[in-house]
Amino acid sequence: MKKEIKSKQEKQEKIETLDCNDRHCPFHGSISIRGRSFKGKIIKNDLHKTVTIEFPRQFYLSKYERYAKRRSRIRAHNPECINAQIGDVVKIMETKPI
Ligand SMILES: [Zn+2]
Repeated sequence: MKKEIKSKQEKQEKIETLDCNDRHCPFHGSISIRGRSFKGKIIKNDLHKTVTIEFPRQFYLSKYERYAKRRSRIRAHNPECINAQIGDVVKIMETKPI
C-alpha cells in the first residue's frame, strides 16, 4: 500500500518536470482543479487531446428499492505531458469549464 503511494508520487514528479505548453494542463497550465473526482478506464481517444473515460456507478431504483449498476462516460482533457492511452485506468478531476 505504501509502495503504491510512493510510485504515484514519483509519477507525478516526473510529469511536473516535463516540458508542456498546454494552458489547460493541471500541472503546467493556469487551470486549477476543484470539485468532484472520478476514477475510470479510458475507452476512446478523441481528437484535440481529449479522451473518453468509462466507470461503473450505482443507480438507485425506487420501485424495487435496490441499486442497479450503470455505466457513466465522461470526456476529459488529456495533455501531452500525461498522454494516457486506451485501457489506462486514470483519476480525473473537475475544473472550471474550458
Ligand atoms: Zn502539462
